[in-house]
Amino acid sequence: MEHEPKKNRIRINLLLALGALLFAAATIVLWFLLRPKPGAGGSFVIRYGNGETLTVPADETRTVVIRDGKLVDEATGEGDENVIRIENGSARMERANCRHEDCVQQGVLNAETAVTRPLGAWIICAPHRVYIEYVGDGA
Ligand SMILES: [Zn+2]
Repeated sequence: MEHEPKKNRIRINLLLALGALLFAAATIVLWFLLRPKPGAGGSFVIRYGNGETLTVPADETRTVVIRDGKLVDEATGEGDENVIRIENGSARMERANCRHEDCVQQGVLNAETAVTRPLGAWIICAPHRVYIEYVGDGA
């Protein structure tokens, strides 16, 4: 048959096109699987005491208690105490026994509010020298 080579060429072209399509599909699937989930990125860097830092990923659920410049397990309300709550990508000063509780009033800190809050990416307890900073993935 004389038109057999032409048929083969079409078949090869089809296979190549199919291969390219599969490669593209695999790339898209990988991109979906590997891309960072919105809102789940970043972390909170807590500064306290004599320059100590504690970094908590924003997607963790955790309560951090700092008393008299030290990391402790439980809140007792004694000394200079700050209770920091981290959940759902947000951090806030849940409780503090500083005068005026300014830090508690500073509200919720997360990727979105870090752009709009007056204090930006920070929650600051000046009297107790406890600072929480939101650090995005790109930083
Ligand atoms: Zn405070």
